Amino acid sequence: FADRDGVIWFDGEMVPWRDARVHVLTHTLHYGMGVFEGVRAYHAGDKGSCIFKLQEHTDRLFRSAHIMRMEMPYSKEELNEAQRAVVRENNLDEAYLRPMAFLGSEGMGLRADALKTHVIVAAWNWPSYMSPEAKENGIKIRTSSYTRHHVNITMCKAKANGNYINSMLALREALDSGCEEALLLDNEGYVAEGSGENFFMVRDGIIYTPELTSCLDGITRKTIFQLAEDCGYEIREKRITRDEVYVADEAFFTGTAAEVLPIREYDGRIIGEGKRGPVTTILQDLYFKAVKGELPAHTDWLAPVK
Ligand code: PMP
Repeated sequence: FADRDGVIWFDGEMVPWRDARVHVLTHTLHYGMGVFEGVRAYHAGDKGSCIFKLQEHTDRLFRSAHIMRMEMPYSKEELNEAQRAVVRENNLDEAYLRPMAFLGSEGMGLRADALKTHVIVAAWNWPSYMSPEAKENGIKIRTSSYTRHHVNITMCKAKANGNYINSMLALREALDSGCEEALLLDNEGYVAEGSGENFFMVRDGIIYTPELTSCLDGITRKTIFQLAEDCGYEIREKRITRDEVYVADEAFFTGTAAEVLPIREYDGRIIGEGKRGPVTTILQDLYFKAVKGELPAHTDWLAPVK
């Protein structure tokens, strides 16, 4: 993945992809203190390539840095432009973007003094996180044996590098047992989120999603709130138990990478009809329209790269 053509924005400059290197004593590599984003650009008709909810992602990156007490050396405007520039300069039309702020190799130790925060933005073509069949037919998931981070162990509102070892353990376990994704419960046993997605379920026409307590404040989650409101669905944020999900009519995940992903089976129980449900279908369709600039009411969600 490192040995390829293209450019990466690295500390204010466009660097050839192959040369965007760091030292083995890079602090974040040792202790995981870093913050990042996952952002997508879509082809939006006449507008060309557009980054979806660019400002929201940049705002969350800065909030994550603030929580982690990392000093961001660039302004939000500079990082917005860096994100547009990597899509443009890599000649990408649809892309996944990865902005990340990390601590450098200026020193070692948990005190983390005298360290500089470095920032990169990479972008590449990453068509689909899950197979096209998964988007249509839904995925099979299981309860993770790993608990989602407790709010006082790590900071769940920060999209922080180190947080993702929990996600990776959960996903690996799910894949090993023949599932496609994990559903993580919080430390009290209530549904939290997927390894990289927020969770929703539908019962009797009402949409439910866990409160944000130990979940990431997902940007796709918020988009779904708006799209659901547009078509008159009620969304309730509440504590959800795993057996409520077993008897839900529909369930789905949301995330920038995963987009809107139906869940057809959970812990060996078929959910609803065992396929993408009607509410999920409507919201998924609206989501794909939104990112492609086909919803006139929400074109302000798109930031053209040109
Ligand atoms: N939860 C976790 C743990 C995630 O990593 C992600 C992906 N960023 C999400 C939820 C979904 O967030 P978003 O919709 O902003 O991509």
